[in-house]
Amino acid sequence: KEEVNIISGALDLRKKKVLDVMTKLKDCFMLPITSVLDFETMSEIVKSGYSRIPVYEGNRTNIITVLFIKDLAFVDPDDNTPLRTLCQYYQNPCNFVFEDVTLDVMLKQFKEGHKGHMAFVQRIEEGEGDPVYETIGLVTLEDVIEEMIQAE
Ligand code: ATP
Ligand code: ATP
Repeated sequence: KEEVNIISGALDLRKKKVLDVMTKLKDCFMLPITSVLDFETMSEIVKSGYSRIPVYEGNRTNIITVLFIKDLAFVDPDDNTPLRTLCQYYQNPCNFVFEDVTLDVMLKQFKEGHKGHMAFVQRIEEGEGDPVYETIGLVTLEDVIEEMIQAE
């Protein structure tokens, strides 16, 4: 029965972690902050089909902001606008979450949602000295809901 599946799926959220449902960083469509919003880059963004694009500086693990497709509404590809200029204007914040957060907690956080429905998944690397946070993927509300309604 569908209702039973959804309820058991909802209960299973407590057993699963964001690590289990995230999109791995290597599979994420992202842009370097040094990009120029010319015709080629803008077509690539549209072709990707994603409505939120993480923007990184230097290394891909160093995500500094998010570009929303709607932010491109007034951008003319002929102007060759630097992505940095647009990001400085919108300053969309990033939401971070640790890899071992369970999906029920993640869902709650998305529902409270002042930070939107995407979060970057972080792992703590315990080494010598200070712990280092490494970004390993992204998770969206869609990933959590999918887990909830697919469970058998
Ligand atoms: P929307 O449905 O609001 O247009 P979307 O299709 O861009 O958004 P979601 O529906 O939130 O994205 O997520 C769909 C899947 O795509 C999820 O598995 C999510 O992890 C993944 N995803 C979202 N953004 C990206 C991205 N920039 N690169 C790679 N995968 C992404
Ligand atoms: P249970 O399912 O065990 O009855 P619950 O669903 O009522 O618990 P809480 O007890 O409110 O959830 O929270 C469980 C844990 O998750 C607590 O450590 C709490 O601090 C944390 N937590 C709750 N909501 C959030 C949130 N939005 N963001 C981050 N952490 C949260």
